[in-house]
Amino acid sequence: MNGKMQGVTLIADWKPKPGFKLGSKDIEGRQTYLGSLVWRNPRIEIREYDIPTPGPDEVLLEVKACGICGSDVHMAQADKEGYIFYPGLTGFPSILGHEFSGVVVEAGKNAFDKRTNKPFKGGERVTSEEMLWCASCRPCADGQPNHCERLDEVGFNVNGAYAKYIVLPSRTIWSLEPMAQRYKGDDIFLAGSLIEPACVAYNAVIERGGGIRPGDRVVILGGGPVGIAACAILRRAGASKVILSEPQKERTDLALKLGATHAIDPSKEDFADRVLEITEGMGADLFMEATGLPERVYPGIERVIWEGRTLNSTVVVTARAEAKMPVTGEVLQVRRARIIGAQGHSGHGNFPRVIECMADGMDLTPMITKKVGLNELPENIIKLQTDRSNCKVTYVAK
Ligand SMILES: [Zn+2]
Ligand SMILES: [Zn+2]
Repeated sequence: MNGKMQGVTLIADWKPKPGFKLGSKDIEGRQTYLGSLVWRNPRIEIREYDIPTPGPDEVLLEVKACGICGSDVHMAQADKEGYIFYPGLTGFPSILGHEFSGVVVEAGKNAFDKRTNKPFKGGERVTSEEMLWCASCRPCADGQPNHCERLDEVGFNVNGAYAKYIVLPSRTIWSLEPMAQRYKGDDIFLAGSLIEPACVAYNAVIERGGGIRPGDRVVILGGGPVGIAACAILRRAGASKVILSEPQKERTDLALKLGATHAIDPSKEDFADRVLEITEGMGADLFMEATGLPERVYPGIERVIWEGRTLNSTVVVTARAEAKMPVTGEVLQVRRARIIGAQGHSGHGNFPRVIECMADGMDLTPMITKKVGLNELPENIIKLQTDRSNCKVTYVAK
C-alpha cells in the first residue's frame, strides 16, 4: 500500500556518559541496551513516514488502539543532567507505542495465523507481543523468548504503534477473534490494547511465580496497570483474598472493581499489620512486587513472611529497580520462602491464555480512563510524568 502516515516519534541525542562502553548488541549512534547511560535531551515530534510494506513473513496492521505505557513516559523524561529515565533497550529516532491492537490489512505469503492454522487473509482483529524475539538464539531455542539475546522491541528500537500503520512479523501476532462475542464494536480494540500489560502480569504471577491454588491468599504491591491486571488474573485463578497495597485511591477503587478483595494504603497504615489482620495471621502464599521501591516494601513483605503462618511463600520481582532488596536470608530459610524474578510477556502460552480469559469475561477496559487522538499523544505522554490520576491513557484511531 502506498502513501504517507504520521508517527509519534521519540528523538534524543547520543551522548554516552563517561566510562560507557558499547555492549555487544549496541550500535554506535543508534541503539543501546542501557538507555539512561546514553540518550540525552529526549523530545517527541510527529514525523511523516512512508506506510511500511510487509515482507513474506510479515503483516501490515492498521492500528486501532494503543495505550501509553510508563516506559513511554520514562523514555521522554530527562533527569537533571538531561539523560532519559528509561534504562533499557532503546534506539532513536523511533515511533513509540507497544500496547496495541489493530486489523490485518495485508500479509506476506508466509505470514501465518496461529488461530486458523492458515496464512492471514486480512480483516482479522489482532494484537501483538512487544518483544520481537529472534526465535533462533540459545534462550529462544530453549523456550525462553523473554530472555532473547537478539531482541528487538516494538516502540523502543523498532517503530511502534503510535501511527496509522505498523508492520510486524506474524510470529508475534495473536488474533482477538475469540473475544468477538464478548466485546462489541470497537471495544474489542480497547480490550486488545490491554493484553500486552496483562501478559506481563500473567507471566509474573502464573508462569514465573508458579501460579496459585484456589483458596490461596495473595498480595500485590503497586497498583499500576500490571498490578491491577494481576489482581484480576489471580482472582480468576481462585485466590480467596487478593490484597492490593497502593496509596492512590483511584487505583485501589479500580482494582477492587476488577478483582482485588482488599486494599491497603501504605502511606496511612502499616502494610504488614494490615496483611496479617486481613488474613487472620496467616500471611500470603504469593506476593507480587510491582512498585520498584525495594527499600520501602521488602521490610513489610519480610515481616508478613516471618510472622504469618503460611510456609512456602513466593515473592515475584516484577517492577524494575536499581536499588538492592533488603532481605534477611534466615527468614527465607525458616519460612521456606523464595524470591523469583520475572521479565517479559512472551512464550509459555501467555498471550492465548490472557485472550481466553478476556473472552470469558475478564474485562480490564475500565482501566482505560482517558482516550486521546494521535496529535494529543505528545502532550499526554509529558503530562503523565507528573500526573498519575489516570490509569491508562489510550490512543484510539479515528
Ligand atoms: Zn509497556
Ligand atoms: Zn532470541
